Amino acid sequence: MTTGVLVVGSANADLVVQVDRHPAPGETVLGSDLRVHPGGKGANQAVAAARLGARVGLVGRIGTDAHGDLLVGSLVREGVDTSTVLRDDAPTGVALIAVGSTGENSIVVSPGANARVTDADVKDAVRGASGWARVVSAQLEIPRAAVVAAAAVAEEQGMRFVLNPSPPDPLLDPDFAGPVLPRCDPLVVNEHEARMLLGAASADDPAPLADGLLRTGVRSAVVTLGARGAVVAQRAGGTRHVPGVPVEAVDTTGAGDAFTGALAWRLSQDPDLVAAVQWAVRVGAAAVRGLGAQSAYPRPEDLP
Ligand code: ADP
Repeated sequence: MTTGVLVVGSANADLVVQVDRHPAPGETVLGSDLRVHPGGKGANQAVAAARLGARVGLVGRIGTDAHGDLLVGSLVREGVDTSTVLRDDAPTGVALIAVGSTGENSIVVSPGANARVTDADVKDAVRGASGWARVVSAQLEIPRAAVVAAAAVAEEQGMRFVLNPSPPDPLLDPDFAGPVLPRCDPLVVNEHEARMLLGAASADDPAPLADGLLRTGVRSAVVTLGARGAVVAQRAGGTRHVPGVPVEAVDTTGAGDAFTGALAWRLSQDPDLVAAVQWAVRVGAAAVRGLGAQSAYPRPEDLP
């Protein structure tokens, strides 16, 4: 039976320094020792799914530099299939992250090789995975043409397409949204992204927010609500709130990626979206109990 996930997306080296306060423009501040973590929304989703036991591959581009070796090494150790990760002569994507004393981050992302992912890369990879993967899961940290290709070829191959539009800005462009939104099943957004996509007129309550997303043409929508869980809206099934799982939250970085990776894996086994969200909410909750993104992602036995 085909029950795998192909993630189309970014891989970054996260370079993290703690600071007492963030520097103003033109200013220099001293920070802690540097820590380097594997990150990027695509790699995060793939690792989240792999930890849970998924058969999962990543489509993307990583540089031939030391950061690239680190990222590929960590993906392989986690059990992610990297045969469709191309090594590019552009530098590996990095996120320069300063963590302030109140936990507030300031982040500069240099996409590097992620910006070189082509529609041809994606078409070949999705067609090549059609024998084993049932779900294609994408985010928006790679070029738009690559995401359009992922949506189109997933449909052509009868695979389910899941989109987490982070960062959401490209979806405000009708030329991009037109071919992508009607293929999303589901579109997965957090509350902030949902409001940004729906504009000023968006409702305060999460349920109408999810319903509003359905009117953008998506097949189904999931709005994640942090500690409050998530709301699911489906064309046939109406709207359902799935409550959060109470946990002691230590660090919410990458919770949405864990949620979406888990959701995609579950949907590749069973098309029931509400059941998949119920499970993904538990995975998201487990992911906030530890520091960091990938390092905190749970195995099935860690789920609350
Ligand atoms: P994002 O990380 O994209 O902003 P959310 O903050 O909505 O997304 O979190 C995604 C999911 O992670 C939630 O639906 C929930 O399952 C879980 N989660 C996040 N924060 C918490 C929390 N404080 N307590 C329990 N679960 C959480």
